[in-house]
This record gives sequence, structure tokens and C-alpha cells, in this order.
Amino acid sequence: MTETVLRARKLTVRYGAFLAVDSVDLDVVPGSVHAIIGPNGAGKTTLFNALSGLVGISSGQIELRGERIDGLPVSKRLQRGLSRSFQVTNLFFDLTVHENMRLALQGKSGLGAFNFVTQCSSQASLVEGAHHLLERFSLEHKARSFAGELSHGEQRRLEIGLALASNPSVLFLDEPTAGMGSEDIDFTKRFLSGLVEAGGLTIVLIEHNMSLVMDISDTITVLQQGQKIAEGSADVIRADAAVRAAYLGE
Ligand code: ATP
Repeated sequence: MTETVLRARKLTVRYGAFLAVDSVDLDVVPGSVHAIIGPNGAGKTTLFNALSGLVGISSGQIELRGERIDGLPVSKRLQRGLSRSFQVTNLFFDLTVHENMRLALQGKSGLGAFNFVTQCSSQASLVEGAHHLLERFSLEHKARSFAGELSHGEQRRLEIGLALASNPSVLFLDEPTAGMGSEDIDFTKRFLSGLVEAGGLTIVLIEHNMSLVMDISDTITVLQQGQKIAEGSADVIRADAAVRAAYLGE
């Protein structure tokens, strides 16, 4: 049996009578990039929110490293190593880039890939930790700029940095390249692959940019009207007749 870090079984979310996520099973392999794709309204964000705790599930189970987490609030899931970025920006625009990062680091500790972060207990080590993370994101030269002054691509990159500040083992990214130009998309693609290759981190992402999804994902899950209609590698998904009909418009 394949090892999984995050597992969902018959995960179901209803909004009133409406079934937004319909009995979805998910097995996320540690150290992989796992993409969730599907047409608008397919239930991708709802599935993300259910996994990270922002939306209560109607039925089903979620396990992180073999332990049930579906009854836990967001904060407890964060402590256990789940972190997420949002489609809408989460930055403090009138604070500097470094201050945003320091705030994200403050009081956070996790179980994942960036062990240096857990040592950020003193002010000095917070400053150091923030610089270290900004370096990883090629944003150290912007440390003193206000977050509101960054380009759109830099802001999105900083948001991923903030999500990593809790030292997660599983990072959820909701459309990390939304609104980015091609240069920033290329950077993000290389950057996300590099994060996973460095070891210890698993990425689950929602993304509409199919070229990025196909290039960096180990596994792709396709949702349509709340149901999983296909799952597999990029090659499997490209060749799947149901996906081509439902999603790629063929
Ligand atoms: P998109 O790609 O457009 O972001 P999505 O695949 O992420 O779509 P969701 O946002 O999860 O889809 O929405 C799934 C369905 O649930 C949609 O029909 C949406 O209108 C509905 N929905 C989402 N949030 C709520 C809510 N809070 N109350 C009622 N219905 C909702």
C-alpha cells in the first residue's frame, strides 16, 4: 500500500441541500505535488477548505499521518503541520516585507521541512529566520519595501513564504499563479518544484494554469460537480476521455 501523509475518505460537504463535495477519496503521498483541478464550481476550494478546517464536513473522514483531524479547528491542524495560502491576498500592505514575515514566524512552530523556523523564539532569531525565508524566496532585496509596493508576482511569492513560516509538512496553495505574468509563473514553477525536491514538504494545490499543473504535479485529481472523475499522473490525465470531455472541452 502506498504511504500517504493526508488521506480523505468519502469526504462530503453540503451547503444546505447543495452537495459541493460528494464522497471524495484522496490519498496524498508524502514529498509529492498533488494538484486538484476541475471547471469553475467543481468544488476545489470547498475541498481545500474542508481539508484545512475552514469548512465543516457533512460526513467522511480526514487523516493526517494516520490520525483523524476532521474534528479539529484550523489552529490545531496548523500545529499538526497543515498550512495554506489563499486566493485573496493575506498580506499587511502597510508593513514591510520583513515585518510581514516576522509576524508570520512569531509564535509558530510545526513539524515540517524548515526546522530552523522552530528555533525562532527570541527577537534576534525571528529577524534572522525572516531573512532566511526571504532569501529562499529571492525577496531579501525587498525586505524593507512595504508589502503594498511589491509587484503582484512578488506578493504571491511572499504569501507562499508566510504559509511556510509555520513550518508545515503539507502546504495548501490556492491558485498560486493567479494573475501572474509568464516570468513570475516560470519562477513559481521552479520554486515550488525546488521546495519539494529539497525534501520534507508536500504540496497540494489548486491551479488553473494547466501547463504548470502538468509540469510539476506527481498526481492530479480532477473534480467535476463535487465528484472525483479522474486521478493520476499528468500523462494519465491528458489521456483520460472523461477529463477531456468535461474539462478540456473536447
Ligand atoms: P472556482 O474554480 O470557480 O474557484 P471551485 O471548484 O473552487 O470553483 P467551489 O468554490 O468549491 O468551487 O464551489 C463549489 C460549489 O459550491 C459552487 O457551485 C459554489 O457556488 C458553491 N458554494 C461555494 N461556497 C458556498 C457557500 N458558502 N454557500 C453555498 N454555496 C457555496
